[in-house]
Amino acid sequence: MMINTPIISTKKMSKSYGNKQNKHEVLKNISLEIRKGETVAIVGKSGSGKSTLLHVLATLDQPTSGEVLLHDEVPPKKNLEQIRNQTFGFVFQHFFMNPNQTVLENVLLPLKIAKVPSKKRKIMAIDILRKVGLEDKAKNKAADLSGGQKQRVCIARALINQPEIIFADEPTGNLDSKTAHEIEDLLFYTNQEFCSTLVIVTHDEDLAKKCDRQLLLRDGQLVEVK
Ligand code: ADP
Ligand code: MG
Repeated sequence: MMINTPIISTKKMSKSYGNKQNKHEVLKNISLEIRKGETVAIVGKSGSGKSTLLHVLATLDQPTSGEVLLHDEVPPKKNLEQIRNQTFGFVFQHFFMNPNQTVLENVLLPLKIAKVPSKKRKIMAIDILRKVGLEDKAKNKAADLSGGQKQRVCIARALINQPEIIFADEPTGNLDSKTAHEIEDLLFYTNQEFCSTLVIVTHDEDLAKKCDRQLLLRDGQLVEVK
């Protein structure tokens, strides 16, 4: 499913760390367009800047120069947090969650931030937990789950706002191959079912191949390999 308007794009975007003497240019003049409903893999060697690119695309980090546009516009700085909460879902390698809260509380957090009434957000959270096959774990402490279950909680939380874009950074990096496949299936299911755009940083060639596009990050630049 692909619609032909760019949902996110960069124009001559560069990102460097450090100052004059030890300036490290990680991303150099990257111009990129990602369209709604696309599945995009970002691949490249460790240290090539994949996470940096993902963070800049997701407005978690600022480019040093150039622009990142959302729906062809520079998102206003004062609304960034709200835009991120409403438009983006995040899945990271290290299962970011509150381990002391229940699965349900972790999953409904984005709705809490968006001030959805408490009864409604519970219903929505249960519904999404059913979709990721974790309905029976709703009341468990998040810390007590297996790695694969934790990642499913993170995906449920990423999905609960029906975000337009899901950013995933090595989402299967800490999982055994069987569980990794289940998580992959779940990510692609969200693409099919909700038309969520997927931007996935991965080392996993098989996962990358399943995406519509593979972008290789090398020497600070992006090469389209598929
Ligand atoms: P990848 O995700 O491809 O492994 P990263 O985007 O994490 O690569 O890092 C790219 C380069 O930028 C690396 O050399 C890394 O050390 C450096 N880097 C990343 N984050 C920072 C930071 N906050 N400050 C300074 N250097 C950083
Ligand atoms: Mg990384």
